[in-house]
Amino acid sequence: MLVLPEIVQDILHRLEAAGYEAWCVGGAVRDALLGLSPGDWDVTTSAPPEAVLSLFAPHALPTGLRHGTVTVGGGRGVEVTTFRRDGDYSDHRRPDQVEFTRSLTEDLARRDFTVNAIAVDLRGRVADPFGGREDLAARQLRAVGEADRRFQEDALRILRGLRFASRLGFAIEPETSSALRRSAPLLKEIAAERILTELTGILCGSEVLPVLLNYPDVLGMPLPEILPCVGFDQRSVYHCYDVWEHTAHSTAAVKPSSILRWTMLLHDLGKPDTFFLDEEGRGHFYGHWRRSAAHAETILDRLRMDGRSRRTILTLVERHDSPLTLSEKAVRRALARYGEETLRLLLEVKRADNLAQAPTFRDRQVLISQWEALMDMVIRSGACFSLGQLAVRGDDLTALGLRGPAVGEALRTLLELVVDGKLENERGLLLSYVEEQLYSRST
Ligand code: ATP
Ligand code: MG
Repeated sequence: MLVLPEIVQDILHRLEAAGYEAWCVGGAVRDALLGLSPGDWDVTTSAPPEAVLSLFAPHALPTGLRHGTVTVGGGRGVEVTTFRRDGDYSDHRRPDQVEFTRSLTEDLARRDFTVNAIAVDLRGRVADPFGGREDLAARQLRAVGEADRRFQEDALRILRGLRFASRLGFAIEPETSSALRRSAPLLKEIAAERILTELTGILCGSEVLPVLLNYPDVLGMPLPEILPCVGFDQRSVYHCYDVWEHTAHSTAAVKPSSILRWTMLLHDLGKPDTFFLDEEGRGHFYGHWRRSAAHAETILDRLRMDGRSRRTILTLVERHDSPLTLSEKAVRRALARYGEETLRLLLEVKRADNLAQAPTFRDRQVLISQWEALMDMVIRSGACFSLGQLAVRGDDLTALGLRGPAVGEALRTLLELVVDGKLENERGLLLSYVEEQLYSRST
């Protein structure tokens, strides 16, 4: 029997005591039955929203009253939704209207996948009219009811399906899978923000590899830029995969953070555009990183990725193929240019990229680790690679008579000299260097 959190037990108990039916449902039940730690718990009840609001006042908020949802309790709270039946979906996104019902089975019938349509009550009774537990045991996703109709109603379910497949490692049952492909063009109707959230969820799943390999046609609806990569033969000794397979393997090989997974997905999109076959029949992709960054920018803008993540991803895509020189100076320069945090991400990108190349070139992993060790050493040694570490500040330069933009310019010049090892980061030396420069300029 599932152990429900106290707050959920309390909510179910109070609803029942008031004469209503109340069940846990959705992702938390699914995850708990799988032995995973559940996220947010959802409660479904025969109580109308007004009754839920007054039963739990003042700890209830009408967060989605039109759809019958009230959030109960502090923190993130528990969503309590009245049993409902959805009306027609003329826009492939949201029901035109919802109708409340007294039937749990009707409420479960509106849910997307059978594994998300299992309800559990306070006493451990299970309501599972669509065979969700059987599908959980078979580790597969099956649409509730007629698959084609369900994806036509709400195209977001297509990406939700891929997200659950990627997170749980479930197969998508064949009928559901072909319906999902058939409906994929409807993804055009879905708002960019919701697409971005689902795509990020898909990318960050631990079982993303088969999803990327099996569904490029579906992902290609919101991301048409990936389509030329599919089946694109690289004709290169460095590679054992085509461009899309390489992309998929490198995405799966990197840590599951949004920035890193997105970077790997985008890093080689410029390859088909820049392909060049030399006289010996070998493929090259000169400057593909630049084209990849251009595609990445278009995609991230279209999906309204936040500015900070977008900038980091673009830097990583642009630098993914840059050489690693094993010298302290090169490390200091890189630190000055990108900062430690981005550089560490770049090393992860390079590792994952290499892991998805031909196995004979895996010795590059050693170089990446050596470079990282050198970077650790440079940082530990207290070497200067940022303006904040420089032994002089703006005030020191104004005291010497510099004004306005000349101050910042001088600081950046000093930093460059220090990073390049041409000047010691020592206050007296730096100041006399500036004085000399001023003096030589005024004579
Ligand atoms: P997660 O682990 O991402 O929270 P979840 O399954 O709990 O997954 P939610 O978005 O929290 O997903 O929704 C809770 C439940 O509501 C789902 O399990 C499903 O039963 C139902 N649901 C959510 N979105 C849809 C949808 N677009 N179409 C049909 N049912 C949906
Ligand atoms: Mg949930």
